[in-house]
Amino acid sequence: MNPEIEVHLRSLVNFPSPPGVATHIIELASDPDIEMGKVAKALSMDSALSTKILRIANSPLYAQRRKSENLRQALVVLGLNATLTLALSFSLVKSLRGGKANGISYPFYWRRALLAATCARAVADAMHHSMAEEIFLAGLLQDVGMLALDKAVPDLYRGGEAIQRDHIALAELEKKRLQTDHAEVGGWLMRTWNLPERLHRAIGRSHHIELAFTPDPAQIFDRCVAISGPIADLFLLDPEHRQFAETAQSAERSLGLDKMAFGQVLGTVGAMIPETEAIFETDLLAKQHPDLILEQAREVLMLRSLHALREINTLRAVAESWNSRTLELEEETRRDSMTGVYNRAYLDQVLEREFENSTRHKWPLSIAFADLDNFKSINDKFGHQAGDRILQATARILRGNTRESDLIARYGGEEFVVVLPATDAGTAQAICERIVGAFHNTGHVIGSDHAKVTISIGCATHGAPTSFSNVADFVKAADQALYTAKMRGRDRTVTFDRHIPTTRAARIG
Ligand code: GH3
Ligand code: MG
Ligand code: MG
Repeated sequence: MNPEIEVHLRSLVNFPSPPGVATHIIELASDPDIEMGKVAKALSMDSALSTKILRIANSPLYAQRRKSENLRQALVVLGLNATLTLALSFSLVKSLRGGKANGISYPFYWRRALLAATCARAVADAMHHSMAEEIFLAGLLQDVGMLALDKAVPDLYRGGEAIQRDHIALAELEKKRLQTDHAEVGGWLMRTWNLPERLHRAIGRSHHIELAFTPDPAQIFDRCVAISGPIADLFLLDPEHRQFAETAQSAERSLGLDKMAFGQVLGTVGAMIPETEAIFETDLLAKQHPDLILEQAREVLMLRSLHALREINTLRAVAESWNSRTLELEEETRRDSMTGVYNRAYLDQVLEREFENSTRHKWPLSIAFADLDNFKSINDKFGHQAGDRILQATARILRGNTRESDLIARYGGEEFVVVLPATDAGTAQAICERIVGAFHNTGHVIGSDHAKVTISIGCATHGAPTSFSNVADFVKAADQALYTAKMRGRDRTVTFDRHIPTTRAARIG
């Protein structure tokens, strides 16, 4: 970095520095033993921030089957790193947005920054990169050097929006006047703010599009960021300035994304725009319609190769239906065909994951082990088919008395397990009592007969006051509580307690 400029930048009074919340988030993120509870607490101090995080966790970007109702659940869905990154980007945007501009047009600056971030994320997804959120953040902050330079050299961006529209020419101008450009300054800023190394590396390299493919994730990180600016310009610039073919080619050479994949990235960006606009409260396209831009992309790419483009469209349609079919198939293999709730195999997977989450982040996790009472005699009396219908009704009753974020699975036979993430023992107990009550109030009409079915539930909570060392012990505890419920006369729920004497070893295991 040009030492003269550096001295100048350092001496600036109005120099942007990370705001309080951001500094706090950076601190949290750098603590390897950070607890989810602490993060949730820190984020909840800022209600606008929490709302945004929740909104993102529930947005289509995270195609979640489970709706997050509170920050803790959102943290589970997004993961700690992604949440911190998103929170950081919100608070940085919030603080950098303020202040007086010299030559620079802030509205244009932020539209490009947010669009580029959206593009970087879409490319990261297309590359199946695991750090999509950090790539988003790097995309968002890649031009932050411009904000600093605008303050350091007030007449630098005198042209305002007109000069900002040509990003390459803008960087050339900076180099000519200052022997540095905003990418370098941005990287330097990130370092000064103690932001993670990959952020300053990617931002420092954001103007350089490497054209030989590499599978190295760190390089792909940088390249997703570098290509995001040119892709953003496809959405941002006037139609005659959009370089679809050139950008598609760069994407292909630097990331191996062929035209079809590139077309899909543009589609994803178009689809993400409304959500991003809402979350960051910005009108990204200045009222242009994304469909028109996509249409133009199709046309321009078609000029290059008519055949390839027909392929884009058909392959895209095929890919879409294939994707949704794959999802369906995946979903089918997870479900119990008779009752529609999740099956045992999937339950085992989910439990393993939730147990680990709960242990790592010290959040309670509860499970309810439910077993229909005297089901053998119901089968004997009404027949197996009627029994099956009651099992289906059981699934509905469980569904109707739990939250969307809970997971219901058929354990086997007439046994069901409900997984209640982020639910403490008291709440779990209340939910189980509600379920037992619901069975009580449900009659089953079978032919001209009437069957009354009751259920017994054993409940266990991992976390205070009892922690289990593994999933098997945890499930065994719930099963043991269920056994106690049966012993005490059925039609009730019992919560596992280490001190309850058991007359028999656990029923399973
Ligand atoms: P308890 O209150 O002690 O649980 O009594 P129970 O009769 O329910 O006991 P048990 O668990 O031994 O019996 C389970 C019965 O559930 C055995 C079988 O008749 C019935 N069952 C298991 N799977 C199915 C199924 O898929 N369909 C039907 N209709 N019945 C099933
Ligand atoms: Mg049973
Ligand atoms: Mg039973």
